[in-house]
Amino acid sequence: MSERAGGPAAMKPTVAPGRVKEVTSVSNPIVKDIRALALKKGRDETGLFLAEGLKLVLDAVDAGWKMETLLVSRARLPESELLQKAAARAVASGADLLECSEKVLAAVARRDNPQGAIGVFHRHLTPLDRLDPGADGLLVVLDRVRDPGNLGTVLRTADAAGARGVVLVGDCVDPFSLETVRATMGSIFAVPMARASEEAFLAWRRRFAGLVVGTHMKGDTDYRAPNYAGRPVALVMGNEQAGLGEAMAGACDTLVRIPQVGKADSLNLAVATGLMIFEARRSVLKLAEASR
Ligand code: SAM
Repeated sequence: MSERAGGPAAMKPTVAPGRVKEVTSVSNPIVKDIRALALKKGRDETGLFLAEGLKLVLDAVDAGWKMETLLVSRARLPESELLQKAAARAVASGADLLECSEKVLAAVARRDNPQGAIGVFHRHLTPLDRLDPGADGLLVVLDRVRDPGNLGTVLRTADAAGARGVVLVGDCVDPFSLETVRATMGSIFAVPMARASEEAFLAWRRRFAGLVVGTHMKGDTDYRAPNYAGRPVALVMGNEQAGLGEAMAGACDTLVRIPQVGKADSLNLAVATGLMIFEARRSVLKLAEASR
């Protein structure tokens, strides 16, 4: 699997096939354990997380993420070829298959109309030093992002623009929460993600030879002014409430601002990140579009 795919090492070539079980009661202990993954404590204790929906499950498997268990709708299984394909792949990869009632799926997904498949996967992060922007790639750095929807949207946007990784600095929201995974629409499986303390990030920054652009409400440079092309770039985005911390801002080569009119104090973090990513990738995306 390529670095770009972002997933962990490919699955073992020979694994014992997973077990198949039928589960109809929400009080089944297996269901209880899986439901605990909706909470951060459950995810931290097990190293597992949930991905809902057939598309996400297949995206994860295609990218080489290790599946522990697949829950599928027992009622929808006979009529859905895709569900059957996912179930077969899960069992072949060594994951357990749980054929569940709609009630069980709804309890795990915490939704009235659950999707027909929910995967339980092993969490995977890339060490910061292993994120490779290449000669002219982009890394997105988020300083204490707190909102799961913002983080999910940033991962999705970073994926769409071909960013080479996302770095979560300091006390960030859990990227493996149900809400974040949902908001990524599968991009969590495609973009390598690293987590670092502020101190570790600042040490990495001192070794990073590319351009570090911070976004700041008091930035003195228009966000379109820097030359982002032809070199590795790290875009640093601030916290939703507090903005970019002082030490983080001080570590940037330049602080840019996206011009605004009107009464809004600032842009939403995910919107600002989207504008920045597409500006920084403008020349690369133009070339990619021209060769299509
Ligand atoms: N009250 C915060 C402040 O004063 O920085 C607002 C934070 S804003 C909601 C979250 C982040 O989005 C900012 O730290 C910055 O990274 C980015 N951002 C939002 N609007 C921006 C703008 N007009 N120019 C540059 N960055 C912006």
